[in-house]
Amino acid sequence: MTKAFVVGHPIKHSRSPLIHGYWLKQYGIDGSYERIDVAPVKFGDFLKDFRSQGFAGGNVTIPHKEMAFLSVERRTERAERVGAVNTLWFEDGVIWGDNTDVIGFMAHLDASLGKGWEQDVDTALVLGAGGAARAVVAGLQDRPLKRILVANRTLSKAEDLVRDLRPGSSVALETSAWEALGRVIPHAQLIVNTTSLGMAGQPPLTLDLSRVPRNAAVADIVYVPLETPLLSAAAAQGLRTVDGLGMLLHQAVPGFKRWFGVTPEVTPELRALILADIEGHR
Ligand code: NAP
Repeated sequence: MTKAFVVGHPIKHSRSPLIHGYWLKQYGIDGSYERIDVAPVKFGDFLKDFRSQGFAGGNVTIPHKEMAFLSVERRTERAERVGAVNTLWFEDGVIWGDNTDVIGFMAHLDASLGKGWEQDVDTALVLGAGGAARAVVAGLQDRPLKRILVANRTLSKAEDLVRDLRPGSSVALETSAWEALGRVIPHAQLIVNTTSLGMAGQPPLTLDLSRVPRNAAVADIVYVPLETPLLSAAAAQGLRTVDGLGMLLHQAVPGFKRWFGVTPEVTPELRALILADIEGHR
């Protein structure tokens, strides 16, 4: 039997076991995927020991993603750029780390907007400069865009992000002050919220979308609730919208493939299962 895990602290709210459990059943795989709560002081020991405990690998979530980045022996180029690791596996006797949030965000964006969406986008505006923003910018950077603007309440964090991700970028990376959003929004054909604003229990993200180009798309990586106030406002303006649940589902695909050897599909049934869980907990 192949075993995988999701490690975090706390971990009981993680939906990853539901996602991987669905796929294990769907593909008739003799495997398990379990939640493991590990406090930060014990995370180093956990990394050293998980192989001997029979695990093929697993996911890493808050607060361990940066520590996992520093502790793994090899990292993918993607993880290197983002500076955080959320997926671990053994290969050639060493622990590897990847950041599959990058793939998750881009796969869902492609599925929602259709291949070639970049043709309509010169400027992408990314709101936020936390860990998720780094994954989103790293994904967008690989596409044929002219410019990515990063706006964050704390400008210095946006500047750090741009400084870290700019080397080798074929897309221009720039910052924008949070207070200047009104001026830059009319130039953005893709707007992505990566802040926690709009999440259940948080204030909404209120943007004036009336001057957004008519062909623009608005994505929100917050998925509780699925339709955030930002996405409702965008839909009311007739703009295309991309929700955050697809990113969560698609980021799980590469890990499952590594540990269990099957590339799983993100199906409407899986989406409905996770959505029901989200609704049930609200
Ligand atoms: P993080 O590192 O803590 O970053 C939080 C971001 O939100 C920062 O840019 C922060 O700005 C901003 N923010 C918080 N409160 C704000 C406020 N009142 N006004 C303006 N900006 C505010 O968190 P993260 O890991 O990047 O996650 C961010 C969100 O993405 C969370 O809601 C998380 O659930 C979601 N997420 C979704 C997925 C998915 O699969 N769909 C994956 C990862 C994360 P400052 O720097 O100024 O504090």
